[in-house]
Amino acid sequence: MKIAVDYDDVLVPFVNKFLAWHNERNNTGYDVQAMEHFHFGRNFGGSEQMWTDSINVFHGLGLSAQLDPNEGAVEALRYLAKDHDVVILTSRPSMHREHLEKWVDKHVSGIVGELHMFDGKDQTKPTTGHNKGAVCREIGAGLLIDDNNGHIESAVSQGVGGILFGDHRWTQDHRHKYEGASNWGEAIKIVDSNYS
Ligand SMILES: [Mg+2]
Repeated sequence: MKIAVDYDDVLVPFVNKFLAWHNERNNTGYDVQAMEHFHFGRNFGGSEQMWTDSINVFHGLGLSAQLDPNEGAVEALRYLAKDHDVVILTSRPSMHREHLEKWVDKHVSGIVGELHMFDGKDQTKPTTGHNKGAVCREIGAGLLIDDNNGHIESAVSQGVGGILFGDHRWTQDHRHKYEGASNWGEAIKIVDSNYS
């Protein structure tokens, strides 16, 4: 089976590291524990454009490509790649592809087969037709592992399996709706039980 794995907050601790960087740069004190939604503006105030601009600066500087993998992530992908075709699927804009390729080369070279990036502001809305569920179908992925409940919803609604990943504040309210894994150890067990 082809398994599509999200990058931010599944393979690397993006929100935590981004907020720390943003706080230092702007003399703010936003806390990852208060991150209930994927829209930074809804959590902390400020326009979504301001947050998008800040995130793009973070990515543009290549800082997210310097993040160390989450605990157990590389080992998990190596394990899954024995029986599955593991690919990365991120809605991060493709203008940051070069940085992401560096991360892949450094940490999961020979393990991850493909790197799929797509720009899509409405990617969490299944009705737009351009969302991770649709991309999973296009690339032939049968399972999506992602920390964004909207992406999992878009996958499940289109017949693609979904595992909501991570013990994050923003996953807590949605864990009961989907298969959920707090960490990579749990994710592997679900894949072995239900997707092999
Ligand atoms: Mg993510």
